[in-house]
Amino acid sequence: MDWTTFIGHHRQRQWFANAIGSNRLASTFLLVGPSGIGKRTFAELIAKTMLCTTNDPARFQPCGHCEACVQVEANTHPDVLRVRKNEDKTELSIDQLVGSKDARMREGLCYELRMRPYSGRRKIAIIDDVDTFNIEGANSLLKTLEEPPAGSMIFLIGTSEQRQLPTIRSRCQVVRFARLTDEELATLLVRLGKVSSLEEAKRVAATAHGSIESAESALNETLSELRSKLRESLIQSPLNFTGLSQEIDRHLKSIGTDAQPRRERLKWILDQALDVFRNSMRGNLGLECDLDARLRLSPSELSTLIHRTEEAREQVDRNVSPAVLVEAWTADLAASF
Ligand SMILES: [Zn+2]
Repeated sequence: MDWTTFIGHHRQRQWFANAIGSNRLASTFLLVGPSGIGKRTFAELIAKTMLCTTNDPARFQPCGHCEACVQVEANTHPDVLRVRKNEDKTELSIDQLVGSKDARMREGLCYELRMRPYSGRRKIAIIDDVDTFNIEGANSLLKTLEEPPAGSMIFLIGTSEQRQLPTIRSRCQVVRFARLTDEELATLLVRLGKVSSLEEAKRVAATAHGSIESAESALNETLSELRSKLRESLIQSPLNFTGLSQEIDRHLKSIGTDAQPRRERLKWILDQALDVFRNSMRGNLGLECDLDARLRLSPSELSTLIHRTEEAREQVDRNVSPAVLVEAWTADLAASF
């Protein structure tokens, strides 16, 4: 991967290219934007750009062939430190940042960041899933963010600025990323070999809100079946909320017992509902809409449904049991119909 094959986010690239070229680069960055749009890949590419031993970083084009480039690509460069939430956990663990209890500050990312760079250049830390920081985890990082080791760069990656603790936000240069355009996403799907044709890519991209994660879900056939079922139930009036809640429950059970995939799927389900409500809103305002997914409710009723569904979506990551959440959400929907 290099900047020529990286898709989208031109403004952010230009900003970094200028900052590196003019030597005005800060050390700590908070990259925010929806998930699945390439923020982590972006940080990886900056790391490659900064560590390439053939091309000067100011050229903003890592060679891709030197040992450093190859190592960054293979996740084996000793000066690139990566941390992200373990899949079976709901939070980024403090141990990953400052070491386990009996080795506090003697291991973990903050400790390693202070070591002399093996390459003699710099250390770069990429910390993903910072939305899930608890206060203790965030606090453990503050000192490092305040006084980053000379030459080091730290990238924090999250989905929105508002979700970060103010103490973290204020210590970082915030770089905002927008969703990919449908066209960019379609190109990416083709490039990653996820689809068999550009046509299919465009069709999938049109429903994926600029996110590769959403696109991958859309590609899953079970999901498209589930989507039609959900649409069908959601446009029924009055809403059969017991049926809807059972349908979702059954589906969530069918994907296994792991909490994380279930949460991701539930978010996807709520996104489908949001699609239906927003689509109906467009239709009711006289704009173009998908007639098969249109609920004839007033704009204020629809905005209540949208608001409640967005709220439910936020709650998914807060450890609320999916079953409880679905029940409360569908009951509230039923009450608004
Ligand atoms: Zn290189």
